[in-house]
Amino acid sequence: MLLPIVNYGHPALRRKGARIEALTPEIRQLAADMLETMHRASGVGLAAQQVARALQLTVVDVRGVEDRPSTMEIGGRPAKPEEHMPLVLINPEIEPHGAPDTGPEGCLSFPEIYADITRPETVTVRAQNERGEILEFRAGGLLSRAIQHEYDHLQGILFIDRMTAETKRGLQPELDRLQAETKAWLRAGKLPADARDVPLVR
Ligand code: ZN
Repeated sequence: MLLPIVNYGHPALRRKGARIEALTPEIRQLAADMLETMHRASGVGLAAQQVARALQLTVVDVRGVEDRPSTMEIGGRPAKPEEHMPLVLINPEIEPHGAPDTGPEGCLSFPEIYADITRPETVTVRAQNERGEILEFRAGGLLSRAIQHEYDHLQGILFIDRMTAETKRGLQPELDRLQAETKAWLRAGKLPADARDVPLVR
């Protein structure tokens, strides 16, 4: 089922996700719905906060992007990222490594807004998938960037928080417009008002 993606200005985007203690049918369904929603929106990542659920759950799929390569290592050996996509990451822990790397980023909750963001170039990831399997790998390139962006979402951090002050100043009119639009929709009851309306974890 396609889920509504909430935009900047929605309070769920600023909430730290609750740890998922049990892989209930509701959580598995949410992960499946998030994958469908991300693919339909042509995104490379989607966090639960973006569908107004403040949970430690994100999905990633870099297969659709050909001009920005991704790398993956499992157990110290190179792996083919496309063979491990899509990723469902539950309660992920990450450890960034390497030199800062600057590249363009967008976000499904910020339509039409793009900016260069600097992040460490590689990341070690440990998470559970929707089947309860432990995933451990190192990611580079676009996959590393996407996972760091999604991990931020799970903490209530947005890519605008990682922009240089100058970049953010340039985008401020668009950000203000988007935030005002979201608040107007919320007042009109057109979006899930708050993640607390949709309890999935007890
Ligand atoms: Zn995002």
